[in-house]
Amino acid sequence: MIKVRRQKVRIGALCIAFLLLPVILFYFSPYLIVAGAFEGVVAGSAISFAVLFVLSFVLRRAFCGWACSTGGLQELERSAVDEPFAHPRANLLKWAIWVPWMSAIVSGAILAGGIHAVDPIYHTPHGLSVSSVLGLCIYLVVVAAFFVPNLFLGRRAMCHCICWMAPFMIAGGKLGELLRLPQLHVSSEPDLCIHCGRCDRDCPMSLPVEALAAEGRLGACPECIQCAACCDACPRDVLKLELGQHR
Ligand code: SF4
Ligand code: SF4
Repeated sequence: MIKVRRQKVRIGALCIAFLLLPVILFYFSPYLIVAGAFEGVVAGSAISFAVLFVLSFVLRRAFCGWACSTGGLQELERSAVDEPFAHPRANLLKWAIWVPWMSAIVSGAILAGGIHAVDPIYHTPHGLSVSSVLGLCIYLVVVAAFFVPNLFLGRRAMCHCICWMAPFMIAGGKLGELLRLPQLHVSSEPDLCIHCGRCDRDCPMSLPVEALAAEGRLGACPECIQCAACCDACPRDVLKLELGQHR
């Protein structure tokens, strides 16, 4: 019962985050951070990404599992189409996007002669993301970009392939690991496993949960979003979401 409730709370939180997207979209904009850098301005999205990076030292990718607006959209999409994502190599694509993007941000700040100002609502009139026809068009493009490809590639494909926020959290999680900080992670007792396959079936990131647990690699898996869906699906309590150091 507690397990069912935890997943209901999680999906509810993600749905609320999705409903807030018209307000908060620009605070996660990959474009505004670059535009701001070229003017020597720290935009709202730069602040958001910095916060996500620091939080991930301990929370790893829990933001993706519990609070991301586009994660909420993709979870809602699962009620209509719920095919697993079967292209693990495509996980590298987001790094191929992230590295040049970060290079553009750094180059912009250098060309601007450094940072001169911090403007959390940079190019966000009245602090609202969708406050004009242009804002609405950008919103619709983002929603389509995080919805349509999943129909062909599988659930949460965009988290795997293009999300520009995920690399911050993966890097932050690795740094926290190196610093030996306690981290939110899925611990496992593979000896108790009855190989029912429910964890693999329910994982929104389509991870081979049972195999990762058997190999002792689940706690540190960079694509795990700490959603606990596997823990809550497991009939033998093999898997647990815990805060602590992991192997
Ligand atoms: S392995 Fe478990 S906690 Fe990690 S993403 Fe998959 S279901 Fe969520
Ligand atoms: S859900 Fe639990 S018992 Fe079933 S395969 Fe996964 S870890 Fe094993």
